[in-house]
Amino acid sequence: MSDVTLARFDDVLESFDPVMGIEVHVELNTRTKMFCGCATTFGAPPNTQVCPVCIGLPGAMPAVNHKAVESAIRLGLALHCRIAERCTFARKNYFYPDLSKDYQISQYEDPIDQDGYLDVELEDGTVFRVLIERAHMEEDAAKNTHVGGATGRIQGADYTLVDYNRGGMPLIEIVTKPIEGAGARAPEVARAYVAALREVVLALGISDARMEQGSLRADVNLSLRPKVPDAAAQAKVPFGKRSETKNVNSLRAIEKAVRYEIRRQGALLSAGQLVTQETRHWHEDTESTSPGRSKEQAEDYRYFPEPDLLPIEPAKAWVEELRATLPELPSVKRARLKAEWAFTDREMLAAVNAGAVDLIEATVAAGASPAGARKWWLGELARVANEREVELADLPVSPADVAAVEALIGEGRITDKLARQVLAGVLAGEGTPAEVVAARGLAVVSDDAALLEAVDAALAAQPDVAAAIKAGRVQAAGAIVGAVMKATRGQADAARVRELILQRVSE
Ligand code: ZN
Ligand code: MN
Repeated sequence: MSDVTLARFDDVLESFDPVMGIEVHVELNTRTKMFCGCATTFGAPPNTQVCPVCIGLPGAMPAVNHKAVESAIRLGLALHCRIAERCTFARKNYFYPDLSKDYQISQYEDPIDQDGYLDVELEDGTVFRVLIERAHMEEDAAKNTHVGGATGRIQGADYTLVDYNRGGMPLIEIVTKPIEGAGARAPEVARAYVAALREVVLALGISDARMEQGSLRADVNLSLRPKVPDAAAQAKVPFGKRSETKNVNSLRAIEKAVRYEIRRQGALLSAGQLVTQETRHWHEDTESTSPGRSKEQAEDYRYFPEPDLLPIEPAKAWVEELRATLPELPSVKRARLKAEWAFTDREMLAAVNAGAVDLIEATVAAGASPAGARKWWLGELARVANEREVELADLPVSPADVAAVEALIGEGRITDKLARQVLAGVLAGEGTPAEVVAARGLAVVSDDAALLEAVDAALAAQPDVAAAIKAGRVQAAGAIVGAVMKATRGQADAARVRELILQRVSE
């Protein structure tokens, strides 16, 4: 990829507006496939979950999976789509070894979900509305594994294995309208959109949406449109030629792929060259894209109505029943929790970005105050997670543990400082907070007699400091407080120690 010139991102944005179109395929978690009764278990031995229908043997008849239709309607409702009163399936004809039927059953002219939107929260809290063109039902193709090449692609491979277990798996493809006006934030908008869509899918429980396992796959179309000063004229400037980067399989990669394509296309256009309309592949190792199929001529898939399936006409009452039972959606839930917890925008954003919202919710449910729960998850525990390079949720500490630590502080049995040691013990697998306090002997020394003994010893060890305090230089007491805290291994209440020091020197 050394022959590719990249322009500076900011330079490109001075002359061009990026326009994106994002297609996401979500594999549904139904027990059986889209048009047959085959199981859908992930990771089953190759070609063990197949039947005459999903490999397309003569005479086999498909039947629509009711649960898949239900999932498609629920997703459409969550995305504010119109649910088609009548929709059909079509055959999309093409040859590839992963498609033994030579056609894919998909929806074409009348998708089940039409004209919706998804409001996407960006990192600074602003909301960008992405318009949804359609979401349609279809079946997945089989999985090709190209063996022997360096890249895992067909070029340079010795042979290819085909696993038809994936053939016929139920998919929903969600297609956006052109996403314009994001400017320099286009990479962030693309990532945030797929992240938000994934959250909705997970909240609905219709897919496990694992990008790394391919149950959620994103293709990103990108083109650059010349900027003109006049806003009215801008709308008339035609879209540029687009590239379609396929199967970008992490949120981070989506952001990087968009950024890369903006820089690559920007360099071409600035040099007076043309962008080729083509599919491209994202390479995680080099963080770049390379050309795949040229799409200069739109492919003609010879779509025609699937003759073996009846149209789907979801009853209005059923759709309304599904609407009434939709779960609270992630963005709505966040707004509710923010109000309930009395968090500022900034505090809520920090919790969201740290992936701590559910943890704080569970900690509050276990009895902690929202502020206390936030303090530990975003403070000490975030620090440890960062150090260990793991997600907060993967730390070996539970919301109940954090709530217990808060309770111990509230009862005055430990200080904030001791709480850190208690959490360290829990993280080290030493048991519950109460067990760690007992085993490590971490309870606050609240016995004044014991504290006075330590205060006297510290004053005796630093007579000049004692004299200074006596002479009215109260701030000098800090040195004695420090000595007492050290002597009690941090188990004293510093405020109480200060009181005792001042009391002692005035006696
Ligand atoms: Zn089958
Ligand atoms: Mn598709």
